[in-house]
Amino acid sequence: MSAGATINGSDVLIVVDVQNDFCPGGALAVPRGDEIVPIVNRLAERFRNVVLTQDWHPSGHFSSASSHPGKKPYQTIAASYGPQVLWPDHCVQGTPGAAFHPALQIPHAALVLRKGMDATIDSYSTFYENDRRTPTGLVGYLRERGFSRVFLAGLAFDFCVRYSAEDAKREGFAVFVVEDACRGIDVDGSVAATRASLAALGIACSSALAPA
Ligand SMILES: [Zn+2]
Repeated sequence: MSAGATINGSDVLIVVDVQNDFCPGGALAVPRGDEIVPIVNRLAERFRNVVLTQDWHPSGHFSSASSHPGKKPYQTIAASYGPQVLWPDHCVQGTPGAAFHPALQIPHAALVLRKGMDATIDSYSTFYENDRRTPTGLVGYLRERGFSRVFLAGLAFDFCVRYSAEDAKREGFAVFVVEDACRGIDVDGSVAATRASLAALGIACSSALAPA
């Protein structure tokens, strides 16, 4: 698939969670996560419309293993809204780990959307929190701006990018995941599960965007 060879004004690129804590050396490092930064920078130059998202948790967030005595990071618990992987403390509001990677350079991004701010619920998707019902407001923004095609890049491929892609598709947008501009964590086969899920939903997952 050559994803959207011609990028136009009704296309939007969503750059998901390219933050220090998700890069090597960070609290919840995605292996080789920092490799995408120059790729994302180049990709974003081709879009007039770019949204950046940030995972932005209060300290003591529900998704942190440290909030659940006896639990360790990467264990899964049953939350009221379904299974929840417990993570190392990460992306705490206002900390250096929550900042964008310093080499991320997308000055023309119009919107920075923060998510995961409710202490009692996690938010992988940039559109809905993990109950799949509580909106972040991003659907409304994209609709009001008249965008029809959503391109996704960022971290991590198998969590926040995946759930964002699936929600965007469910909301009626044409969705393209630029996999070359993503990296995965791969908890219990989650990368393979993501590829299978995206394919089953008819979401285009391209290795790279076709040349301009
Ligand atoms: Zn998080």
